[in-house]
Amino acid sequence: MARYIFITGGVVSSLGKGLASAALGALLQARGYTVRLRKLDPYLNVDPGTMSPFEHGEVFVTDDGAETDLDLGHYERFTGVSARKTDSVSSGRIYSNVLEKERKGAYLGKTIQVIPHVTNEIKDFLSVGEDEVDFMLCEIGGTVGDIEGLPFFEAIRQFAQERPRGQCVFMHLTLLPYLAASGELKTKPTQHSVKELRSIGLQPDVLVCRSEQPIPEKERAKIALFCNVRPDAVIPAYDLKSIYEAPLAYHRAGLDQAVLDAFQISPAPRPDLSRWEDVMDRLTNAEGLVKVAIVGKYVQLEDAYKSISEALTHGGMANRVRVKTEWVDSEKLEGEGAHLLDGFNGIIVPGGFGERGTEGMVAAAKYAREKKVPYLGICLGMQMAVIEAARNLAEMPDAGSEEFDHEAGESRFTPVVYHLKEWVQGNYTVQRKLSDDKGGTMRLGAYTAVLKPGSKISEVYDGALEIEDRHRHRYEVDAKYRERLEEVGLNFSGMSPDGRLPECVEYASHPWFIGVQSHPELKSKPFEPAPLFAGFVRAAMDNERLV
Ligand code: GLN
Repeated sequence: MARYIFITGGVVSSLGKGLASAALGALLQARGYTVRLRKLDPYLNVDPGTMSPFEHGEVFVTDDGAETDLDLGHYERFTGVSARKTDSVSSGRIYSNVLEKERKGAYLGKTIQVIPHVTNEIKDFLSVGEDEVDFMLCEIGGTVGDIEGLPFFEAIRQFAQERPRGQCVFMHLTLLPYLAASGELKTKPTQHSVKELRSIGLQPDVLVCRSEQPIPEKERAKIALFCNVRPDAVIPAYDLKSIYEAPLAYHRAGLDQAVLDAFQISPAPRPDLSRWEDVMDRLTNAEGLVKVAIVGKYVQLEDAYKSISEALTHGGMANRVRVKTEWVDSEKLEGEGAHLLDGFNGIIVPGGFGERGTEGMVAAAKYAREKKVPYLGICLGMQMAVIEAARNLAEMPDAGSEEFDHEAGESRFTPVVYHLKEWVQGNYTVQRKLSDDKGGTMRLGAYTAVLKPGSKISEVYDGALEIEDRHRHRYEVDAKYRERLEEVGLNFSGMSPDGRLPECVEYASHPWFIGVQSHPELKSKPFEPAPLFAGFVRAAMDNERLV
């Protein structure tokens, strides 16, 4: 049976709970334990799939097709453990399960209440797969004191109470603000936050204190005393240059030791930190720089492309270079012209939804093709590259995507990208209508692509002829234009196993121009970079237009 670590946050949001959880997971692995990380989000959306990237950042997709919070991306990048549908839940999902059961008469005529019905549903979620790992790390989204969070806090209180003593540990993240005028770090907000937790029956065992300034021993002792925590379980967390420093920095600060002490695991197995030492070596001893432009429409919030920027960093580590990413607003590019891309070693057009900004992406694909700049098109970025080839090489000036026609409510394009209504997933055929719900109805999760022998993409994957990456899209390049596009040089180098759905395109006559319908960035890790990103960075290094 797994031991549980519950991670909560107080004082302010955005303290880096997800990162602290992920780093702790990595440290427990370094000590030889198996881990799984889970996220419980108090918002009422059933999942983040329908939320704007501007609001919530990237939607992270799992192999089994769940649309989840971007923190699950951190968990995977730090532990290498593939997240599952059962690792992410929201209040919306919990309530919708409870209401569905109520309609089916599953509660045998009882009055349905937050305690026990909603809290029981949360506890059921926590227990899934508990026999599989040594440690289950469960992060509660939001901040203690939020109205929406209460059922989750109550559920973890009950959960720990029902388990044998010592099976659950509570870790709480807070902030120590620094008052420059008096030159002091203030502990009062932390005290209040812990008081708030204790008022709902939760006593933290470990406190992680974010601070911009070193925390003096005196203040640490004070926090321990006032918050009823052991002094060596008050862990300082300072700002880091790179998130990948977190495992080593938290280890030095004593986090994993404090957690194991709280479980009374003694002696604790010694950690092997070589994986993270190598990651840090690659990060700090990079030689050279490549400049990459990401041409997208959600560029105001960088979290919208979190996994892409991380995968680029990993691609840099694989080649021991630093990757400098610049965000180029595709709408701006539409207005001002593709010369905005002058001076970059490589261009990425990432995923996205809706028509706004897409002409700028088509212009970026044209620029990359003509100027022979390495290009990686991801999902929408592949679709735009196909539209560009259709318009400018295959004499289809009105080529476009059905997505934009649907959005505009009129037919303006010849749809080389069309709405997919039926496809094969494993042994099933999935069917969709345009009028279906928006949430959870895309082609989601891991799908196989069969690669053409000798193609560039196959070379990138070390000669593999089958690859599997995660998908999240409603529209699809129409295979009926394959011949016409291949005649003008755009090869369909990867197809779905049934040969119906184009998965990868590339130009044989270009140094490195690849479009993929999947999201390879989602599986990239610092210690196992996604081959397409490592290959793209390599090509960008070789690109002579050096900055
Ligand atoms: N909007 C496109 C589609 O739904 C692309 C999606 C994406 O880039 N993830 O097919």
